[in-house]
Amino acid sequence: MHQTLGVVIKKRDIGEADRFLTILTRDFGKIETTARGIRKIEAKLLGHSELFCYSHFMFSDGRTRPVLTGALAIENFSSLRSNLEKLAAAFQMAEILNDSIAGPRKDLSIWDLTLSTLKELDSAPASSAKKFFCFFQTNLLKHLGHQPELWKCVVCRKKIKPENNFFSPSKGGIICENCPKTGNKTIPISAEAIKILRTFLAKEAAFLRKLRLKKTEIEELELILNRFTAYHFE
Ligand SMILES: [Zn+2]
Repeated sequence: MHQTLGVVIKKRDIGEADRFLTILTRDFGKIETTARGIRKIEAKLLGHSELFCYSHFMFSDGRTRPVLTGALAIENFSSLRSNLEKLAAAFQMAEILNDSIAGPRKDLSIWDLTLSTLKELDSAPASSAKKFFCFFQTNLLKHLGHQPELWKCVVCRKKIKPENNFFSPSKGGIICENCPKTGNKTIPISAEAIKILRTFLAKEAAFLRKLRLKKTEIEELELILNRFTAYHFE
């Protein structure tokens, strides 16, 4: 029998009786568990094993994958659940975790990032939901070894100045005004967006409460981060 803290990031019903739950856990990284007998699950685990639920989980070794034997909710993020914009941001977080993490490997920085971002997103105003996903994406990429180079040009290595810079997903950072933009995937990046990304990398999720971003800034960040994520994980 094992136990750990975790957040459910994917839920899938198998046949009539079983359910697969993908859980990001504190102690084992990402694990896929089987919960046997949906009626039983509903009686015992309902409300404790919903998507995004932060719970204490118990499981035993199964033949092919761990079998979930118990769950006790610590926080179910009810505000996040009742708001479409926040829910959409949480879904995006769950999706990128699923796509980018290969298997069970303990990673406390990813665990802390996920839990703290969910907590902040839960208590934040709905209008700022996208900011949380951008923050999460930037730092998840960093923890997975893909921190973008935002200080020096990835081609000539000179210090980045506030000029007509570009972001290159394949080169993993900024290309300055004077260097050739090879490939067609480079995107113009404003000095403001560079500043925000640097702030994301330097701060904790709680700092986002004080960080006000314009709609245009969010749109620019979304484009850059989605291309960067797609380059690595699709
Ligand atoms: Zn350059």
